[in-house]
Amino acid sequence: MAAEAHALQGRTAVVTGASSGIGAAIAERFAAEGAHVFLAGRTRARMEETAKRIRERGGQATVVALDVRDVRQVQELVEQAVHDTGRLDIMVNNAGLSHPQSIVDGEPEQWREMLEVNVLALLAGCQAAIRAMRRGSSPGHLVNVSSIAGASEARGVYGATKAAVDSIATQLRKELEEDPIRVVNVRPGAVATSFGRHYDPALVQGVAKSMGIEAQVEPGAHWPDALVQELERKVQPQFLSADDVARAVLFAVTQPPHVNVFDVVVRPQKALSI
Ligand code: NDP
Repeated sequence: MAAEAHALQGRTAVVTGASSGIGAAIAERFAAEGAHVFLAGRTRARMEETAKRIRERGGQATVVALDVRDVRQVQELVEQAVHDTGRLDIMVNNAGLSHPQSIVDGEPEQWREMLEVNVLALLAGCQAAIRAMRRGSSPGHLVNVSSIAGASEARGVYGATKAAVDSIATQLRKELEEDPIRVVNVRPGAVATSFGRHYDPALVQGVAKSMGIEAQVEPGAHWPDALVQELERKVQPQFLSADDVARAVLFAVTQPPHVNVFDVVVRPQKALSI
């Protein structure tokens, strides 16, 4: 249907963590629906590749390389989107990471990184977006990417950051009841992305091998696209694709302002047991 094909025509969307995984998939989905997307993350080259694909399909994309741990850069990102397009309709706070070590064995600097990226940057993104949306006249959506880990037992400091994200969404929903701004808290289960890039490479390679996949991964680096695609193909009942999550997010942000699709839990068919 033509109307559905361009559900976000004329809208502006900012997506953090858009250099891979769920963020890149959301950016591509939104752009395919007509939005001008601002892709933000540290790895410019990967975002440029996504932006190129978007433009080749007739979409609009702007790449902003930044580190969301610097909240000023998050605020400037939102301001740039408003300056360039005259509006902000959707803010997706998706950048996030997990250092999986136990609290007993973990490193405080890794806790700091998780707290700054998963929580502080998200708060700054929400605040900057709300202020920008209130200056405009159209309804808006804040999309915060949490995780089922926030409501699961014993998911380490990562789980604690996602519990904070869940709590922030509940608070913001209350604060924004009188505004045409809806809060969407997305809680995915296992998704085939580079998310495990801070896990022990030997563990990743062992798990991949048990699934019949040869994985070459460097600690902290984005996983090769071919590995992510192979994961998607071979282990589908236990992993969602990033686009599976993106489609759910698209549904939530295309509802009218009086409809709040607030808690979006998207899980694969089967639980992942490692
Ligand atoms: P990826 O590792 O593929 O993506 C994470 C994104 O966050 C990257 O684009 C990365 O970009 C960005 N990022 C990390 N640190 C920073 C930083 N300091 N500044 C700017 N950008 C940063 O993993 P996912 O796509 O899976 O993760 C996206 C979100 O989904 C996260 O919030 C994660 O917690 C959540 N999630 C993921 C699940 C999964 O199973 N994959 C399940 C549940 C939730 P770059 O490194 O280029 O800066």
